[in-house]
Amino acid sequence: ACLAAVDAADALNAVSAKTPQKAREMAAAADARLSAEGEGAPSLCGIPLGIKDLFCTEGVASQAASNILEGFRPPYESTVTARLWERGAVMVGKLNMDEFAMGSSNETSCYGPAVNPWRAKGSNRDLTPGGSSGGSASAVAAELCLGATGTDTGGSIRQPAAFTGIVGVKPTYGRCSRFGIVAFASSLDQAGPMAKTVRDAAIMLEGMAGFDPKDSTSADLAVPDFEAALTGDIRGKTIGIPKEYRMEGMPAEIDALWDRGAQMLRDAGAKTVEISLPHTKYALPAYYVIAPAEASSNLARYDGVRFGHRAKLGAGDAIVDLYEKSRAEGFGPEVQRRVMIGAYVLSAGYYDAYYLRAQKVRTLIKRDFEQAFETVDAILTPATPSAAFGIGEMADADPVAMYLNDVFTVTVNLAGLPGAAVPTGVDSSGLPLGLQIIGKPWGEAEMLDIAYALE
Ligand code: GLN
Repeated sequence: ACLAAVDAADALNAVSAKTPQKAREMAAAADARLSAEGEGAPSLCGIPLGIKDLFCTEGVASQAASNILEGFRPPYESTVTARLWERGAVMVGKLNMDEFAMGSSNETSCYGPAVNPWRAKGSNRDLTPGGSSGGSASAVAAELCLGATGTDTGGSIRQPAAFTGIVGVKPTYGRCSRFGIVAFASSLDQAGPMAKTVRDAAIMLEGMAGFDPKDSTSADLAVPDFEAALTGDIRGKTIGIPKEYRMEGMPAEIDALWDRGAQMLRDAGAKTVEISLPHTKYALPAYYVIAPAEASSNLARYDGVRFGHRAKLGAGDAIVDLYEKSRAEGFGPEVQRRVMIGAYVLSAGYYDAYYLRAQKVRTLIKRDFEQAFETVDAILTPATPSAAFGIGEMADADPVAMYLNDVFTVTVNLAGLPGAAVPTGVDSSGLPLGLQIIGKPWGEAEMLDIAYALE
């Protein structure tokens, strides 16, 4: 049914590579396993999943939605996807995304934008599913698969989840292995599940998480039974409402949704208290220094020699022309912008003023959260400052306008915390809106239980 749905949904442009043959083989193997093992079969056995194009999948096109990785078929599998396949999950295809996960609308993709299956009441305008995991969000919302992997460096799981009315979970940094995931900003990147319900996301996260010696930042901690943690009983919990997130110019509908979410948690027995995260306003500028800095370093490997696109050289061209032309042809404008910003803030004359300063701000933001978690169990915020916007509406504007989409999500990555976006309502035009629960480090089980009460 999922393969048929994938074929019927070409207009969404959510799938970057269809893998029907692989899906059938994996489904047959899962079937055999279910008959042999019955109830003992793993919880993901036979479950059709989509995989963001950022994950290396052995022998299957993995391009990070970039022309520079044209024709790249990895000779190995990412740890996260390998774990999913060990548990019997079935790959229905690779999913569209922003190029190298840089973007908030899936419009920087070399495959063109993915489309949100939702439309505003009475309008036939195509909306963005958000980004960078836009294909994953669109595919899950349109039921092309039951869940999808995403990655989140500054909000790329949570913002698209909110734009498409699904659940998206960014785990604690180090919970899921980054091995085999194309690197964007290594100190911020985390993989996580995108699914229709909190329960599905909990089951999927358990399948993805766990220690991996191939990623030196992966944590050697036991993975809790996240599904068993969903009790719906949050009596006695204290939820913080950070006053700095009540931004000026925020639409009244987002404000109202936030209040409604707080009321839902109180109705479920929790207490809500106002808290302060004083350095919030510096999070976006710090993120947009640190993330491009790490990206410029990570993307240095795309030189036209080792893999991917190689420019044709003219007579008299030297090796440096090969690098320059391959990169100029292979990287799109947003990626080039990030590489230039990154190289600039890391350069000898500006390192102290920008990069080092941003790292200090990062520490202050982390401390804000540490202090808050001395008195609260979790934090409730909006997931996005608006509902889904139209394709083309923001892309042609100032790039900073697009960056502002991440205002509620980047703090979580800077502090390495877990965060979950949960669909909690619709706006006046019927479009989905989401709230975010931020958990303590390694507190995904508790965070998911609170998200469950909000669902
Ligand atoms: N929108 C943010 C950016 O463009 C976050 C992307 C992400 O989380 N991968 O950097």
